[in-house]
Amino acid sequence: MQRYFVPSIQGASVDIVGDDAHHIVRVMRMRIGQALIVCDGAQAWDGVIDLVAQSFVRVRLCGVRTEHPEPRIPLWVAQALPKSDKMDVVVQKATELGACALFPFVSARSIVRTGDATRHERWQRIAKEASEQSGRLRIPVVHRIQSLDDVCALFGQCARVLWCTLDASESVFHAMNTTVHDAPILVVVGPEGGFAPEETAQAVDAGALPVSLGPRVLRAETAALMVLSAWHAIDALRMDEADRGRNV
Ligand code: SAM
Repeated sequence: MQRYFVPSIQGASVDIVGDDAHHIVRVMRMRIGQALIVCDGAQAWDGVIDLVAQSFVRVRLCGVRTEHPEPRIPLWVAQALPKSDKMDVVVQKATELGACALFPFVSARSIVRTGDATRHERWQRIAKEASEQSGRLRIPVVHRIQSLDDVCALFGQCARVLWCTLDASESVFHAMNTTVHDAPILVVVGPEGGFAPEETAQAVDAGALPVSLGPRVLRAETAALMVLSAWHAIDALRMDEADRGRNV
């Protein structure tokens, strides 16, 4: 069912405006009486269209949905800017895979070194659309382009910082499996040319753990997605084990 994000939900109905109202009426051609889902970033509601006006669609709220699509532990992705429009792919797929925040940053070997405001707006729009499509409760925040210093300043808020680099000896799976704290896990991925040694030294000084993603060299836009997928597998197995423990 179509899902639309609104800034807040209070009362028995909510008005959807702007591009989303246009999407409901002109693209989806939905009519009064049709069902959709509205979401305020904390809860999702089943709703039915009550009124289609010139500039808004009024949705009557029928009840809160019981769904838990958000990861138990927040996942953050810091991605050194890749070439061309590959950051679009990272934002879209990382959102589907449950990333809660994205930090594009300029690394020493980044080929792309700047981004204008329209790029940032596009990434945030892609995150919103991917959240709607994948049934998220929250739209991940795509931060403005950062420096490595900015990224290192985040480390103190994280349970673990997974610094993905080819020459690491620690496996990412082992590192994730031994992460038990509920604070965010930050995945940091380098550009096409990899991290410069002094960047890895700076990150390790700041508390990052260099990790290997296995014997194959993944594209810059694949690496974070692999880590997010692996984390869900590890977390699901842990939950299964905890459930089995409770049922014994
Ligand atoms: N020649 C580059 C190098 O030596 O790092 C390859 C860079 S790779 C195409 C782009 C980024 O993806 C890397 O900087 C790293 O963050 C991540 N990555 C790709 N494969 C990886 C692997 N097997 N282990 C760890 N990180 C990996």
